[in-house]
Amino acid sequence: MAYDFDLYVIGAGSGGVRSARFAAGFGAKVAVAESRYLGGTCVNVGCVPKKLLVYGAHFAEDFEQSAGFGWSLGEADFDWATLIANKDREINRLNGIYRNLLVNSGVTLHEGHARLIDPHQVEINGQRYSAKHILIATGGWPQIPDIPGREHAISSNEAFFLKELPKRILVVGGGYIAVEFAGIFHGLGADTKLLYRGELFLRGFDGAVRKHLQEELTKRGLDLQFNADIERIEKQADGSLKVTLKDGRELATDCVFYATGRRPMLDNLGLENTGVKLDKRGFIEVDEQYQSAEPSILAIGDVIGRVQLTPVALAEGMAVARRLFKPEQYRPVDYNMIPTAVFSLPNIGTVGLTEEQAREAGHMVQIFESRFRPMKLTLTECQERTLMKLVVDADTDKVLGCHMVGPDAGEIVQGLAIALKAGATKRDFDETIGVHPTAAEEFVTMRTPVAG
Ligand code: FAD
Ligand code: NDP
Repeated sequence: MAYDFDLYVIGAGSGGVRSARFAAGFGAKVAVAESRYLGGTCVNVGCVPKKLLVYGAHFAEDFEQSAGFGWSLGEADFDWATLIANKDREINRLNGIYRNLLVNSGVTLHEGHARLIDPHQVEINGQRYSAKHILIATGGWPQIPDIPGREHAISSNEAFFLKELPKRILVVGGGYIAVEFAGIFHGLGADTKLLYRGELFLRGFDGAVRKHLQEELTKRGLDLQFNADIERIEKQADGSLKVTLKDGRELATDCVFYATGRRPMLDNLGLENTGVKLDKRGFIEVDEQYQSAEPSILAIGDVIGRVQLTPVALAEGMAVARRLFKPEQYRPVDYNMIPTAVFSLPNIGTVGLTEEQAREAGHMVQIFESRFRPMKLTLTECQERTLMKLVVDADTDKVLGCHMVGPDAGEIVQGLAIALKAGATKRDFDETIGVHPTAAEEFVTMRTPVAG
């Protein structure tokens, strides 16, 4: 049967664009549908604008610390509207780049909401198109629990477009987004509280990292409230919000921002017209080659809910393009040793196993830890401390995990990830000459284990 396209991709986000471009480059006839914004979550309401806001927030401490180096500044003044307008201009520029990338690689772009009609057909803007393969790369969407007053809460989608910086804000959640945005709002001058339902935020990260970040954020005056969960939110006559916690406490705020995870974006996608199945958590179920229960339909990225990170969606998109149209170059995605950063202030950078995971997996471990005051702060009043930690297998000497909390941790961990991926041992770390004077050199100078 002749199809209109070899590959029809639904969603021009991180994974979809990568897959479409490479498939077209391999000679396939490819179309991509996008209903909202080119570049998807990462470019529009995720990684990119978030990082710009983190940079914006960081200036507060730069100004403060500059005094130690002899600078005296007038009183600093921050204008949220300028930051948001400049951010929007940059995102518009990136949207244009994504459009050019697609068009220049020969991909047909359909702008509108795509819906599956059957295993080989998609409907968009009243037109139907057939394809040999259909790739679902529709990403995710913020999930706010169903509590009374949830309509008064915002998610990350809205946070990027607030008209004004709230004077007071409650950020709910203890994952990446909550921790990053609490740092952004606090840094920009909002009276910020982070509410997390458990004992300690960032579940799944190394215990020492979680504790260290808790201490650092507290030192900076961020109000961390753990074991705190919202029961209801009520709007007051003056426009402010009254938040009642499950323990009966009441908090007054101007904005409640939920960052409590993301669900797969499957709205009106027409999955019921196909044999695609969902897993227990509601994400699209795929095999190791991203094929769904319907053989002609594949899925990648956040919608399969494996690892919700842009570089992972990119790798999955590439794997699908190769598998379908360049099988001799196909390599499965390796989900081991995925480095990641939380762009809190200070950053977390991490790769490999946490101490807890290593012990649970049965490794005999040696732990190396270093805590120090970054050199840049020695002329300032700032009491911030950096944490670096190595988890080493005591039998094989292999470094199983590297963890850091401190300035530029995200930048530093990328290089360490290559070392760990290549199977580096502690001895390899020890024999590597440091770059002096840097914080990163501490990773190759830790000699005495703190625990075994
Ligand atoms: P997406 O990028 O979400 O793209 C899906 C696209 O599909 C969207 O453009 C959507 O409009 C479109 N779509 C959906 N349904 C349809 C339909 N029916 N028809 C047509 N189009 C449709 N990851 C990192 O690695 N680093 C970070 O620093 C980072 N920060 C983040 C910060 C925030 C606030 C958020 C929310 C996420 C962040 N992420 C980060 C995660 C990252 O953005 C996602 O993992 C990544 O975007 C997933 O890519 P994707 O291709 O699966 O989906
Ligand atoms: P996460 O899954 O990281 O965290 C969700 C948080 O919300 C957890 O602390 C969870 O608590 C809590 N939570 C879940 N449900 C409820 C509820 N009903 N009531 C109260 N709290 C609840 O999700 P995020 O929304 O922060 O981010 C989504 C994903 O986006 C991340 O997992 C990450 O993959 C990606 N991302 C990556 C970034 C980066 O690379 N820097 C930045 C931002 C996002 P508990 O732990 O108790 O379950």
